[in-house]
Amino acid sequence: MSDIDEESELKYSEPERKRKSVASDVPEALDFLVPKAGFFCPICSVFYSGEKAMTNHCKSTRHKQNTEKFMAKQRKEKEQNEAEERSSR
Ligand SMILES: [Zn+2]
Repeated sequence: MSDIDEESELKYSEPERKRKSVASDVPEALDFLVPKAGFFCPICSVFYSGEKAMTNHCKSTRHKQNTEKFMAKQRKEKEQNEAEERSSR
């Protein structure tokens, strides 16, 4: 019997959680963020505040693998763009 009660409670709490996540892009959410200079690797989407840490990251196999993937993707996109330009003429 108590199982049914628990289920109905879960169904009630769900829409509330969804509403909260939608409100996450309000400016107030920036209050806890601290502007900090550092190094950002757009290929791996990682941020390091120290140069040494970033240098170590660039040496890592993870970064090298991501760079290879990134370059391959860029090459493909460039080829696609060129093909589109050619076909539009
Ligand atoms: Zn990287």
